[in-house]
Amino acid sequence: MAYQLLRFALSREHPEPRMFRRPDRLKSSYDVVIIGGGGHGLSSAYYLARDHGIRNVAVLERGYIGGGNTGRNTTIIRSNYLTPEGVAFYDESVRLWQDLSADFDLNLFYANRGHFTLAHTDSAVRTMRWRAEVNKHLGVDSELVGPDAVKAASPQIDITCGGHAPILGALYHAPGSIARHDAVAWGYGRGADRRGVEIHQKTEVTAIDVQGGKVRGVHTNQGYIATNKVLCAVAGFTPRVTHMVGLTTPIYVHPLQAMVSEPMKPWLDPILVSGSLHIYVSQSARGELVMGASLDPYEVQSTRSTLDFVEGLSAHMLDMFPFLSNVRVNRQWAGMADMTPDFAPILGKTPVEGFYLDAGWGTCGFKATPVCGKTMSYTVANDRNHPLIEGFNLSRFETYQLTGEKGAASVGH
Ligand SMILES: Cc1cc2nc3c(=O)[nH]c(=O)nc-3n(C[C@H](O)[C@H](O)[C@H](O)COP(=O)(O)OP(=O)(O)OC[C@H]3O[C@@H](n4cnc5c(N)ncnc54)[C@H](O)[C@@H]3O)c2cc1C
Repeated sequence: MAYQLLRFALSREHPEPRMFRRPDRLKSSYDVVIIGGGGHGLSSAYYLARDHGIRNVAVLERGYIGGGNTGRNTTIIRSNYLTPEGVAFYDESVRLWQDLSADFDLNLFYANRGHFTLAHTDSAVRTMRWRAEVNKHLGVDSELVGPDAVKAASPQIDITCGGHAPILGALYHAPGSIARHDAVAWGYGRGADRRGVEIHQKTEVTAIDVQGGKVRGVHTNQGYIATNKVLCAVAGFTPRVTHMVGLTTPIYVHPLQAMVSEPMKPWLDPILVSGSLHIYVSQSARGELVMGASLDPYEVQSTRSTLDFVEGLSAHMLDMFPFLSNVRVNRQWAGMADMTPDFAPILGKTPVEGFYLDAGWGTCGFKATPVCGKTMSYTVANDRNHPLIEGFNLSRFETYQLTGEKGAASVGH
């Protein structure tokens, strides 16, 4: 197998086509500059070119595309949120996800698995019932189910969770899905590139030129670019970039860690989340268990993972699945989650003319990649906030009209 792969790689007859061009240098100006080559920056570039005919666009990425949270996340896709703004927004994203592999002509390994948020206390059951009713009211497929339904979907589970946290019920959300994260970045990148967008990796924005309250250009480690429109989609780096234009946001950055097990034969079909045990888990197409927990409890900008995290998460995984005790952990890592006080994102125009923000995604922005691209490209192209993002504007923090998603956005991702 290894020999065959090597032969294929070195063969001149079957050269693997590049996913996107690598332009040698930056142009002196672009209609739009996008800071951040994660899923959000790339999807915005894709829809700017595809839906709005704006192709003179540069995506600037300080590292490599998908190397930020897009390539570090656990890929849970769902729309069972709590606020009407949240449900409508994520529901549109779930709709867009369904056609993405066909749009890109690239297999994203999008797999509809069903999503259980487990309730271990009476108050958690009450919250799940509340979320189910909000979801149903807004046309989203969610329902409260009993422990038998959890056991039927995942027969290996210890429904008592070691006797100390018995599962009393769950919020079941049939559309819950997973996908292959790096393929999403590559699909959007290739699609944008084919429509004329330039992707510049290893290109870091170091300063933003603002004159008279308007964006005029950006300074990078590869030179200066003139532009009147800048979209900032840098996740955990947001405070550093907003500082460049003199904007203050309530974003704070916490590490969020995850890990995968060694590959196993398929045994876990649904996605399981437990807020009480602080875990969530799914099994990838490769057979690895993809597992995560809640945010690290300290504010720090770092992607170091810790032993403490693996120990805590493993102990709770064994509460649910004692038979995993001899399974090895293959990898662990961390991303930098840009959190807001109400656990909802910050999207749209800002007080700086020509500076648009796609931030505050914290633990839950992967699922929003398609809808963010759609709505932010509309906002940048028309210099007008898309109706779907009205509830997520930065100005809400001045008027205290928060979009409270904490109950549905924290450990559940
Ligand atoms: C462990 C973990 C698990 C998660 N699980 C889920 C999940 O299951 N479901 C879900 O929906 N979401 C999840 N998330 C959240 C999700 O990953 C993010 O919200 C989403 O990927 C954000 O995408 P993005 O494109 O905005 O950011 P990123 O992918 O982080 O891209 C931002 C890019 O900006 C670049 N950049 C920063 N500063 C500059 C600069 N000055 N110049 C140029 N480039 C710059 C960075 O290098 C980075 O590549 C998880 C996150 C983590 C860390």
